[in-house]
Amino acid sequence: MGHLTIQGVSKNFGQKEVLQDIDLDITEGEFVSILGPSGSGKSTLFHVIGGLLKPDQGSIFLNDQDITGKRGFISYMPQHHALFPWRTVLQNVLLGQELQGNQDQQKALDMIQKAGLAGYEHSLPDALSGGMKQRASFIRALLSPQPLILLDEPFSALDDFTRQDMQQWLQDTWMEYKRTILFITHNIEEALFLSDRIVILSTKPASVIKQFKVPFERPRTEKLVLSNEFLEWKRMVAENIVRQGDDNV
Ligand code: ADP
Ligand code: MG
Repeated sequence: MGHLTIQGVSKNFGQKEVLQDIDLDITEGEFVSILGPSGSGKSTLFHVIGGLLKPDQGSIFLNDQDITGKRGFISYMPQHHALFPWRTVLQNVLLGQELQGNQDQQKALDMIQKAGLAGYEHSLPDALSGGMKQRASFIRALLSPQPLILLDEPFSALDDFTRQDMQQWLQDTWMEYKRTILFITHNIEEALFLSDRIVILSTKPASVIKQFKVPFERPRTEKLVLSNEFLEWKRMVAENIVRQGDDNV
């Protein structure tokens, strides 16, 4: 159960208005991307959803339960992988379950293998490349018992080739495990490739200016990214960002 409702959320830091009256509804099993330029308030919105920050106005509901300002209801993967360096890969991916006192080691080993990390179960994160760390971190989020996963620009530090591989892997894994995902990115192509729906934020302060349902069939492949239809969508989304006169894009 991962139905999230964001209702009239506003947040200021002192005089600075960062979020303004954000309304969003994410349904069970949906993959939704939040697209906006750097500094537009995307991470702040995630911190509010995850209960790390209290909004000045508005509420967050998960399956109709008010979770505003409460932590622990949502699986949150921060912008940097945040694996514990002293824990092995296996111990890291089991962390979310460990906190709930109920571990499924077999499933974890299975996912580690499918993520191409076989042989690294008992290695420390230092032994992994950037892309491998991201996969381990993502498995931890998937194995956590919370029904909704927030991913904050998980691939932004990766090179283009690794990024494309990771997007493909994320899509395939999501199709298999069907969780509700809210994904932050400033990359239009990434949002189009991965999402069922794209939500475009304005800046200063951020509010929802446009939403698109993405029509491409799954599984999506690299071929799609090179198609005319995809490029047309890319242009259309870009125009919708530029049209608000944003100098950051
Ligand atoms: P994004 O994730 O879209 O890049 P952020 O949500 O990190 O943007 O930041 C949005 C704005 O809020 C930025 O101008 C940033 O400097 C400001 N900001 C973020 N966190 C704080 C904070 N704790 N105190 C003051 N200003 C903040
Ligand atoms: Mg951010």
